[in-house]
Amino acid sequence: MFTINENFVKLPGSYLFSDIAKRVAAYTAAHPDQSIIRLGIGDVTRPLAPAVVEAMKQACDEMGEAATFRGYGPEQGYDFLREAIAENDYRARGIAISPDEVFVSDGAKSDTGNIGDIFGKDNIVAVCDPVYPVYVDTNAMAGRAGEPQSDGRWSSLVYMPCTEENGFAPALPDKKADMIYLCFPNNPTGASITYEGLQKWVDYALSSGSVILYDSAYEAFITEDIPHSIFEIEGAKKCAIEFRSFSKTAGFTGTRCGYTVVPKELTCGGVSLGALWNRRQTTKFNGVPYIVQRGAEAVYSAEGQKQIRETIAYYLHNAKVIREGLAQAGFTVYGGVNAPYIWLKTPDGLTSWEFFDELINRAGVVGTPGSGFGPSGEGYFRLTSFGSLENSVAAIERIKKAF
Ligand code: PLP
Repeated sequence: MFTINENFVKLPGSYLFSDIAKRVAAYTAAHPDQSIIRLGIGDVTRPLAPAVVEAMKQACDEMGEAATFRGYGPEQGYDFLREAIAENDYRARGIAISPDEVFVSDGAKSDTGNIGDIFGKDNIVAVCDPVYPVYVDTNAMAGRAGEPQSDGRWSSLVYMPCTEENGFAPALPDKKADMIYLCFPNNPTGASITYEGLQKWVDYALSSGSVILYDSAYEAFITEDIPHSIFEIEGAKKCAIEFRSFSKTAGFTGTRCGYTVVPKELTCGGVSLGALWNRRQTTKFNGVPYIVQRGAEAVYSAEGQKQIRETIAYYLHNAKVIREGLAQAGFTVYGGVNAPYIWLKTPDGLTSWEFFDELINRAGVVGTPGSGFGPSGEGYFRLTSFGSLENSVAAIERIKKAF
């Protein structure tokens, strides 16, 4: 009789967004005339940049001609895209990353989830709390998280609370941690990290023999003088892997393209982690479509850059409207400066879910309860700037009137 991976059975159901949908449906049924504004959305809404669309159309035409048709491509990505990434996202910032350290993929969810394949089962994993749930759940699937506890935590994970008290910047773990997941700019808190702050993590990882798994999916939203890449930090190439994505940078959430950088200097017991990741990817992944990679390449063209910057500026303007409007309404707000996420403190000691109900009932606005991202998210609430400007403005007007 076969058995299953029992770790999957331990995973709690992922109810956050279905619970939200149920409550919204109940509210709409009771108030059919009241329109709902959704500021909980984690997906982009603006279309692909014209330069990207044009490049994809051309690639499509190439695929329709025998002379230029392409079948399986290199699992690590085409040279043209690896070269464009190394040049524009790294060398242009003075970071020496070579194209063969770049592994193109179908996105940062896959890569942050799959990276665990190359690490030992007994590694101790540290995660921020609140957190992007993929890091936790994939380690639970791999058997590194231990048992789920009644407080929503896992017995074997090291949690690094990110709260108002520490400015949503986690303290170095107080217990041994081998694999440390960091995400800056952060989802869900919208917090960012300074050069000095990140240097502390790199120094810690180097001295304790840990690896930092650095998710930089929101790098394109950085407006201040803070690190865009962990590889701007001295010593990071010996202790870090970086994940990036075209999803939020260029609207590729439905198109799917991202990449992971594994520096050659990153080794463990003389074994190259890049070689392991290459082995993992060439065995389990067959590459991103040529058409999509040509679209991603066009993000780096002069036109592409101008167009994606306009879209990011649009979302950041929404973030400003939301952040400043909430502050005027008396809320304590964080994030929204280097990130598309606004993290607000629930008023009057309300729980995240109590505030969810208040917000929909009093203002017809929907967001995401912070507790859905981990126990330290309790008492906080996430709004996003990925909607339209009209809706962002209208939501804030309603909130100002209601609260
Ligand atoms: N990492 C973080 C922190 C995210 O918030 C998301 C998406 O919301 C992802 C990764 C996934 O990105 P992708 O669309 O590239 O899979």
